[in-house]
Amino acid sequence: MQAFYADHFVLPLPEGHRFPMAKYARLRERLARELPQVELREAEPASDGELALVHTPTYIDAVRTGTLAPVAQREIGFPWSPAMAERARRSVGATVQACRRALGGAGLAANLAGGTHHAYADKGSGFCVFNDAAVAARLMQAEHARAHRARGMLRVAIVDLDVHQGNGTAKIFAQDDSVFTLSLHGAKNFPFRKEPSDLDVELPDGCGDAEYLEALERALEELERRFDPGLVIYLAGADPHEGDRLGRLKLTFDGMEARDRRVMDWAWTRRLPLAFVMAGGYGTDMEATVQVQMNTYRTAVEYQARWHTAPTAAMTAATAREATRWHNAAP
Ligand SMILES: [Zn+2]
Repeated sequence: MQAFYADHFVLPLPEGHRFPMAKYARLRERLARELPQVELREAEPASDGELALVHTPTYIDAVRTGTLAPVAQREIGFPWSPAMAERARRSVGATVQACRRALGGAGLAANLAGGTHHAYADKGSGFCVFNDAAVAARLMQAEHARAHRARGMLRVAIVDLDVHQGNGTAKIFAQDDSVFTLSLHGAKNFPFRKEPSDLDVELPDGCGDAEYLEALERALEELERRFDPGLVIYLAGADPHEGDRLGRLKLTFDGMEARDRRVMDWAWTRRLPLAFVMAGGYGTDMEATVQVQMNTYRTAVEYQARWHTAPTAAMTAATAREATRWHNAAP
């Protein structure tokens, strides 16, 4: 399974800054040592044209040149530097490459960063500069339209299980029926002004494994009733874990793993290509956050092997499914 990284573009942060920059390098180090099935690749930066599928030219330009107004820079939460701008582009590029890889027959691929779901078209927020999932969804739709003109629009489901609401993503796709936004999040957590997603599930403080998994099950059922995706982008945030400083929920390691397994199993059963991204994770103990993410990768490697070892069966099922949809969609 391929996974794309950009953690070697390190943001210079002031001492004591609460963003856990070190977790990205730590995850890559552990993946390299403990999960050789994950092939680590450096991400390419997204171009201005790609970013402009979602973001306004004025905002893209201000991030590149470091000319955001101080209040806009503060809302992102990072000081500007050339490395910050470069890393933001690479993080989008990593999600784009993971989606392309998943759609190209691999079935599953990952971004070691990304999940920057608080970024809007014209501004960043909450450690998010550009919205990687949104840009990747639009770019995959454009590439799909070029390659398979007759099959119609690629429909993308963004399954956002970071503990914070995907407000930027929800707003970007508010008027777009070809992308379904699902967000399961803490009701009382940031952002305090939420944007309506296609499906929002609010969870109370202290929510544990059973309650969470039941909510997830109901959400996936509703997604399926209302939408027929051809690609899933999964924000596998580690911040619903009980060891998280900001999460306010109480999922155990087992609960987090069951969550990942449910999403990946749901996608695999339907032969839906899935790209997953890291999103948030602010463990009191950083190692616990990295452990949650390692577990996500272990589960993903298992599901990716199913695509890999049974390509004929998988392709046949995917082709049959595509043919059925095609048939149903015919006028
Ligand atoms: Zn979060």
